[in-house]
Order: sequence, then C-alpha cells, then structure tokens
Amino acid sequence: MNTVAETLQSGARSLLSHSDSPRLDAELLLGKILGLSRSGLIAHGNEPVAIECEQTYASLIEQRLQGAPVAYLTGTREFWSLALRVTSAVLVPRPETEVLVELALQRLPRDRSSSVLDLGTGSGAIALAIASERPRSRVTGVDISPPALEVAIQNSRDLGLSRIDWRLGSWFAPVPGERFDMIVANPPYVAAADSALEKLTAEPAIALCVGPTGLEAISAIADGAAAHLQNQGWLILEHGSEQAADVAQLLERHGFTRIRSHPDFSGKPRVTLGTVHS
Ligand code: GLN
Repeated sequence: MNTVAETLQSGARSLLSHSDSPRLDAELLLGKILGLSRSGLIAHGNEPVAIECEQTYASLIEQRLQGAPVAYLTGTREFWSLALRVTSAVLVPRPETEVLVELALQRLPRDRSSSVLDLGTGSGAIALAIASERPRSRVTGVDISPPALEVAIQNSRDLGLSRIDWRLGSWFAPVPGERFDMIVANPPYVAAADSALEKLTAEPAIALCVGPTGLEAISAIADGAAAHLQNQGWLILEHGSEQAADVAQLLERHGFTRIRSHPDFSGKPRVTLGTVHS
C-alpha cells in the first residue's frame, strides 16, 4: 500500500500538464476521500492509504484529467469564507467574484437594512456572501435555471442563511415593479468565439456565454437596472478583462454616474459599478 504522501505525489504528478494547481487539486481530492483537511494530510503523510480509497482517488484524478473542475468532484468550494455546495448545474465560484462582493459590502451600511438583488445567482455565492456579512439586508437571488436555484436554496439552508428570497426567471422578470438599493451580477460574459470556452466545457454554457460579443447579458441587465434601483442605488457588474470600457459606456448610456472599474487580484479590470439618480 502507498502512503498518503506517496499517493498525493503521484496524483499531483499526473495532473501536472492538466491543471494550474496540480498539488492543491491532488490534496483536495484525496482529502475529500479520506475526510482529512490539507494539514491533516500532511500530519498523516506516512500512513497507508487503503486500496479502495486509492481506487476512488484514481477515478477522481481521471475525471480531473478529463476536465472536471475539482469543485464538482469534491462537491464543495470555498467562497468568501463560506463552504458552498456546487454541482455541474452551477458555475464554480471564482476568486475574482470576491472583488465584487467586497465592493458591494463597501456600499452597504451595516446599520441599515438594504435591499440587494443578485441576478444570475447560480450557486448563490454572491447573495450568500452579502447576506452573511449584512444580516439586516434583504437579499433576493434570481436565476433562470431551476437546478441552479436548487443549489442556491440548498446552500442557504446549509449555511443557515434562509432569509434570502430566491426567485426563478430571466433577469428582472421575477421582480416586476420592485426596486432595490443595489443590483449585483456575475452574468455570462464570455464571447462565443473566445477560445477560453474550450477549457470550460464542464460548466453550464448558459452561465458563461449567451452571445457573440459576450456583452449581451450585461446589456440586458444595464437596460433594466435603473427601473429597478432606488435613487442613488448601485449597479455592480463582473465582466471580462477586456470589457471594462464597453461596460462603462453601457452604464453611461443608461444614465449611470460615478462609474468606476476595479481590478481583480491580477490587476485586470473585472468589476464595473455605477449609481443612478432618479
Ligand atoms: N470568470 C469566468 C471565466 O472566465 C466566466 C464567468 C462568467 O461568464 N460569468 O472563467
């Protein structure tokens, strides 16, 4: 039998040419099977791995090699200190979306009950992070995909954040006539011809790409946002690294002011926001 350390090493080696983080992937997969944290794996490094665990591990490594995200294989992903359940019905929450959460929180006073609408909520990551940080806020999460919304609802139950109002439908359709203090979204924004899509085949296409330019969903949200915002409410949108100028222009055209784009952790502009006066 191989030890924990040996099993990890061989897993990481197999993933070398398929993953940007082979060691981390190997640790998360083996940790899931053995019920150990990453530090637990190190502490138990010299212990043997049972043969059936090795087999399960080999099958997960194989699925990872075929392109399955680690989060789908473990069923969970950390986002904003929350352990979120993820399935192939939802986009795997990404670190750049935490930039959006941070910008949202800066504009949501702790001592007031603000209303926040999260469009295309997927796993519920943004809605749940905001609800966890602003317990007095009233958060509504919308998604067009029934299985995605089920994941979000399950997450809110698991995390004890059950006050969120989850609604099924396309963008503003499920919130007719309602106005919010803030609208946030990480919509599909990858252009149809973008080669990045080739690496993202495991995730739901509808969460990544809905048209040739990649700006279709953002444009639909910008169209409806002002009518669903309170006076001086904020719209905060995640977008691709080349889209900041287009998104800013769209917001300007819809009467938004104080428009700014903010960088992700690699310094690329990835979140654009603006406010309206009605
Ligand atoms: N951030 C994702 C990616 O580039 C895209 C997510 C989206 O379209 N909302 O992998």
